[in-house]
Amino acid sequence: MTESLFAADYKNQPYWWEAAPRPELPANAPPAKCDVAIVGSGYTGLAAAIELARGGRHVAVLDAEDAGWGCSSRNGGQVGTSIKPSFEDLKALHGEDVAFRIRREGQNALAWIGDFIEREKIDCDWQKVGRFHAAHNAAAYETLARDVTNQPKGLEVEAFVVTRESQRAEIGSAFYHGGVIYPAHASLHPGKYHLALLARAQEAGATILSRCPVMAIQREGDGFRLTTPRGNLQAREVIVATNGYTGKLTPWLRRRVIPIGSYIIATEPLEPALAKRLIPNNRVLSDSRKLVFYYRLSEDGRRIVFGGRVALKETDPKVSAPRLHHHMTRIFPELAATRISHSWMGFVAYTFDTLPHLGRQADGIHYCMGYCGSGVSLGSYFGTRLGQQLLGKPEGRTALDGLMFQTRPFYTGDPWFLAATIAYYKLRDRLNI
Ligand SMILES: Cc1cc2nc3c(=O)[nH]c(=O)nc-3n(C[C@H](O)[C@H](O)[C@H](O)COP(=O)(O)OP(=O)(O)OC[C@H]3O[C@@H](n4cnc5c(N)ncnc54)[C@H](O)[C@@H]3O)c2cc1C
Repeated sequence: MTESLFAADYKNQPYWWEAAPRPELPANAPPAKCDVAIVGSGYTGLAAAIELARGGRHVAVLDAEDAGWGCSSRNGGQVGTSIKPSFEDLKALHGEDVAFRIRREGQNALAWIGDFIEREKIDCDWQKVGRFHAAHNAAAYETLARDVTNQPKGLEVEAFVVTRESQRAEIGSAFYHGGVIYPAHASLHPGKYHLALLARAQEAGATILSRCPVMAIQREGDGFRLTTPRGNLQAREVIVATNGYTGKLTPWLRRRVIPIGSYIIATEPLEPALAKRLIPNNRVLSDSRKLVFYYRLSEDGRRIVFGGRVALKETDPKVSAPRLHHHMTRIFPELAATRISHSWMGFVAYTFDTLPHLGRQADGIHYCMGYCGSGVSLGSYFGTRLGQQLLGKPEGRTALDGLMFQTRPFYTGDPWFLAATIAYYKLRDRLNI
C-alpha cells in the first residue's frame, strides 16, 4: 500500500543534493599546524572560517563526513527570526534588557543573512517570500492575532493577520483557522547556500577536510592537538560547530545539547496550476502545533517540501515518509495520489533553555550551537560573530555571550526523555490544546 506512495526514482536522501551534490574533496592529511581548527563544516563552521580566513588566520575545517553532510544541506530552507522563547519568558529569567537584546539578535540574524547573500552575490535561490504561520485551532488563532497587536515596544516586526475566511489567498486548504503573515521571512536552497559558503571559505584560504573525523582534542602547550585518522593537527584555538551531531569528542557540550531528528520529504513535480493553487504566494509555511509542520514549494515552484516530527523514536526516512505524506494530505487532500521523490532526516540540536549558545569551555575550546531547529540564519550569523570574537573585533559581541549553558542531572547526551515528551506533545495536538 505505502510502496505506491514512492516515485519510481525515489531516493532516501535530500532533494537538495540533486542540484547541490556533496562535494568530493581530496583526502589530504591535515596541515601540521594552524591558527584555528574548526570541527564541523556546516553553516556555523564555514561562517566562522570565512571570517577568520579573511582576517588573516590560517584555518582548517574538519568534518567527519562530506562537507555540509549535517543539517546544513538537509534543512527546509526556511529563514526567519528564529529565537524560540518569547520576550516575556526571557524577561522573567534574564531581565528586560537582556531579553530585549536576545530577541533582537533573531531579527539581526535575519537581516544579516539577507545582506550577506546580496553582498557576496550568492546564488542560492534566496527569495524574500514571507511566511504564513497558520493556526491549528481557534484558540491558537486568537493567541497569534493577540501577539501581533501586542508586540513588545522596540521589537515590533511587520506582521499581519489572515482570518480563516480569507486564508485561501495564502493556502489552498481549509485545514487551518487563519494565521499570520511575516513578510520579512525568506526561503533559500540549503545545498546551494552551503556550497557557496564552502567556496567562499576556500577562496579566503581555509583548508577544508572532509571524511576526516576529529577523534580527540587535547591541550598541548599554549594550544591544542587534534587527532584524526589522517594525522594530527596542532591548533592555537579550536571551535566546535557540531550542533545536532555533537558526540563523545566533547562530553561537556554533549551534556548540553539534545539531538532530535527532523524528518522531511519532497514530492514528485506537481502540475504548475496545482502548485500555484496550494501555495499561491510561494511563501514558506509553518503551523502552531507543538509538533510543528513546516513546508514550502521547491525553488522551481514544482514540488512540495514538507517536514516535521512523525516518530517517537528516531526512524528510517523510508518509514517516516508515508507518515509525513499522511499529514501533508490532511492539509492538502488534493495530494493524496502525489508520490514522494525524496525522504531524508537530520539531527537538530535543542538546548534546555531553547536558546543557541556560543562561548568558551573551561579548557578554552570555543563552541557555537543549539539553534533548536532554526539554524539557517542563526548558524551563519553566530558563526560569523564567533569568528569576529576570535579576531578581537568588537562587532563580534552578542547578547548571548556569557549566558549559562545549562544541562540537567543524569543527562549525558542520550535523550531518554524524548519519546515521552513527543508523545505528550502529540496528544496535546490531537486534543487540539
Ligand atoms: C530536516 C531539517 C529541516 C530543517 N529546516 C530548517 C529550516 O527550514 N530553517 C532553519 O533555520 N533551520 C532548519 N533546520 C536546522 C538547520 O539546518 C541547522 O540548525 C543548521 O544547519 C545547523 O548548522 P551547523 O553548521 O551548526 O551544524 P550541521 O550543519 O549539522 O553540521 C555539523 C557537522 O559536524 C560534523 N561533526 C560532528 N562530529 C564531528 C567530529 N568529531 N569531527 C568532525 N566533524 C564532526 C558533522 O558531520 C556535521 O557535518 C532543519 C534541520 C533539519 C534536519
